[in-house]
Amino acid sequence: MGRVLIIGCGGVASVAIHKCCQNSEVFEEIMIASRTKSKCDALKAKLDGGKTKIETAQVDADNVDEVIALIKSYKPDLVMNIALPYQDLTIMDACLACGVNYMDTANYEPEDIEEPEWKAAYEKRCKEEGFSAYFDYSYQWAYKKKFEEAGLTALLGSGFDPGVTQAYCAYALKHEFDTIDTIDILDCNGGDHGYAFATNFNPEINLREVSAPGSYWENGHWVEVPAMSIKREYNFDQVGQKDMYLLHHEEIESLAKNIPGVKRIRFFMTFGQSYLDHMRCLEDVGMLSTTPINYEGKEIVPIQFLKALLPDPASLGPRTKGKTNIGCIFTGKKDGKEKTYYLYNVCDHQECYKEVGSQAISYTTGVPAMIGAMMLLTGKWNKPGVYTVEEFDPDPYMEALNRWGLPWQESHEPVLVE
Ligand code: NDP
Repeated sequence: MGRVLIIGCGGVASVAIHKCCQNSEVFEEIMIASRTKSKCDALKAKLDGGKTKIETAQVDADNVDEVIALIKSYKPDLVMNIALPYQDLTIMDACLACGVNYMDTANYEPEDIEEPEWKAAYEKRCKEEGFSAYFDYSYQWAYKKKFEEAGLTALLGSGFDPGVTQAYCAYALKHEFDTIDTIDILDCNGGDHGYAFATNFNPEINLREVSAPGSYWENGHWVEVPAMSIKREYNFDQVGQKDMYLLHHEEIESLAKNIPGVKRIRFFMTFGQSYLDHMRCLEDVGMLSTTPINYEGKEIVPIQFLKALLPDPASLGPRTKGKTNIGCIFTGKKDGKEKTYYLYNVCDHQECYKEVGSQAISYTTGVPAMIGAMMLLTGKWNKPGVYTVEEFDPDPYMEALNRWGLPWQESHEPVLVE
C-alpha cells in the first residue's frame, strides 16, 4: 500500500521499523535514512528476507536541502521522523517543499538554547504562558496554515506519551464521558537494568526533560513548580508501589486546548532514588549543560560528553527485567453522574526484547509510531493541517494498539491520585 521514508535509526526507530516489516501489507517499501548509515545497513541486514522491501541512505536531517534531495529521489508517501526533536522543523520544511505527509514522536526543541533569536522568543513564552520547558508546540503549530494550504497532514507526537495517552483521552471522551474534569497521566517504569544510572532513551533529551521545572494545567493556566517537588505514591497494576514525580510534559499543552472544559491535567513519572541522586549530582556539577565549554583547546558540550559515557539505551534491552505501566486516570461526568475511569497498558521488558530486540521504553514508543504512520497511509486519519493524536478518531488507533502489541486495559474504579 505505501512507501515510507523513515529518518533516524536509534532505539525507537529500530522498533518502529521492526513493526513496519511485520505490517508489510501497509508498509510495502521503506527507506531507513540516518546520520550513521552503518546502523541502517545493520538493521536492514537483520530484517531483509521479509515482504517489506528495505533500502538505506545517509542523511543529515539538520540540512533541509539534503532531506529534500532524498525525498525527491525516493518519492515516499510519508516521512516518519524518528530522529531527534531538533530535526522536526527541517524535516517539516522538506515535506512541505516536496508535497509529502509528515509524522514524528516528539515536539520541537532547539539544540542550541543560547541562540539569540530562539532565546528571545523562549523568554517571551515563559512570561506569557507560565511554563519554562525548552520544548513546546508553538513552532510546529505555526506550520498549520502551510500544511492546510498544501493539502498535507502532519501528525505530531505519535509515541506513547505523547501519543497513546492522547488516544486514551480521545477514546474516554468519545465513549465514557460527556465531560472530562481531570486527567492524570501516569508513566511507570518498573524495569531494572542493573546499572546505578542509565537513561531509557536518548540521554540528552531524557535528562533535559527530567531536570526541567514541573508544571500542570489548572483552571485555564499553567502552574509551575520546582523540578521533582511534587511527589506521590501509586500502586501500579502488575508493577506494585512506586514513587512518582510531577513533570512538565508536552501533551498537557495540546490536551488543554483539545479537551473541552478540562479543569486539571497533570503528568507523573516514576523514578528510583538512585536515578534521582545521580541526576541531581550531575546537574550540580554542570554535566547536564548544553552550553559548549572549552577543554584543553577543544570545544565540548557537557551533556553530549555525558552521553558518550552512559550506556547506549539500545544496550539496555537484554539486561532490563520488569514491566512498564503507562496510562491515564480520568474524572468527569456521564449522563449527569460523576464517574472515574482508568485506561492503561502494561508492557514487559523481556517480552519486548524477545520480539524485537529492544526494551519496553523503545517498544512502547516505536509501536505507536508505526500505528500513527499506518493511520496516515491507510487514509483513516486524513485531514490537511498539523494535528496531535487526540484530534483524530481514536477508534482505529485503539484497535491497532490491541493488534500490534500494546493492548489496553481499563478500570471503572481506579484509585485516584491525591
Ligand atoms: P536515539 O538517540 O536512540 O536515536 C536517534 C536517531 O536519530 C539516531 O539514529 C541518530 O543517528 C539519528 N539522528 C540524530 N541526529 C540526526 C540528524 N541530524 N540527521 C539524521 N539522523 C539523525 O533516540 P531514541 O530512538 O531514543 O528517540 C527517538 C525519538 O523518539 C526522539 O525524538 C525522542 O524524543 C522520541 N521519544 C518519544 C517518546 C514518546 O513516548 N513519545 C518516548 C521516547 C522517545 P546517529 O546514530 O548518528 O546518532
